[in-house]
Amino acid sequence: MFIGIDLGGTHMRAALVDRRQTILDRRKVATHVETGPEAVRSRLVELCRELAPAARKKGEPVSAIGLGVAGKIDPREGRVIFSPNLLPLNDYPLACELQEQTRIPVYMENDANLFGLGEQWLRADRGIENWLGVTLGTGVGGCLILGGRLWSGDHLGFSAEIGHTVVDPAGPECVCGLKGCLEAHSSARALVHGVAAHIARGELTGGRLFELFSTGALTAEAVYDCAKQGSTLALGLFQRMGWALGLAIGSAFTLLGIRCAIIGGGVSAGWDLFIDPLCESLREHCSMLNPGEMVVQLSERPNEAALLGAARLAQIKTGVDA
Ligand SMILES: [Zn+2]
Repeated sequence: MFIGIDLGGTHMRAALVDRRQTILDRRKVATHVETGPEAVRSRLVELCRELAPAARKKGEPVSAIGLGVAGKIDPREGRVIFSPNLLPLNDYPLACELQEQTRIPVYMENDANLFGLGEQWLRADRGIENWLGVTLGTGVGGCLILGGRLWSGDHLGFSAEIGHTVVDPAGPECVCGLKGCLEAHSSARALVHGVAAHIARGELTGGRLFELFSTGALTAEAVYDCAKQGSTLALGLFQRMGWALGLAIGSAFTLLGIRCAIIGGGVSAGWDLFIDPLCESLREHCSMLNPGEMVVQLSERPNEAALLGAARLAQIKTGVDA
């Protein structure tokens, strides 16, 4: 038995997973990172404790915990180096602390890399060996699977961070400090900020989006709902999301000589609104490939692949490689 944890900017999720990809029990609570690193760690410990009875019922102990964190991390030291969406955790030895409290080995990885491990595990029989993963959530994460294995680059604590590649140098500001990153166009935060920018420019002065924003209740889901109800502004934000994704994915295909991308994360629920502009932009920005050769797919399990990948990491690290 393994526990997989996906620690995101908005929610933390944990699941008890067996070697056959079955999720036996799961938990999801708000991250509330503003309460500080110790409070976040305590909530993670609590989630692990809550999952223990399901493991005991099966008569198998939890062998290891896989922990996915959004941002740049040091897997060897179990430390978060820099996480724009989880700023209070910067330089905090989260994995070490969690291991000390639970007395179970904890292995940490970037959450988008775990999406890659999870998706590759789910697609083990499919024979797609080279692909780019893009996770759409509070921010935008990325991973590369090359030759069926997760690419870690020079082990600098980040790899395939497509979210922080610049698609428009004159574009909106990104949490990383740059301007015009993919993340500033194609994340949950970008959707909300897109509405805010229209309001700041005086281009939106009423209606549902305006009201939600004014009361602090505007979410990516609400922007999606408004787009489905015909809001030109909301539809435009999803078009911009697709355009930026197509440009970034097209550049990556050209650079790497690969032709498959898999998209996951909570905001991939807006697939029907961004896939057409994405494909159009991809055709426009990737001249080396014929459009028919390019494959862009929605994740097998957009909300669970990273969680399964975290359990998969724990499994690989403990040598229980099914
Ligand atoms: Zn950025």
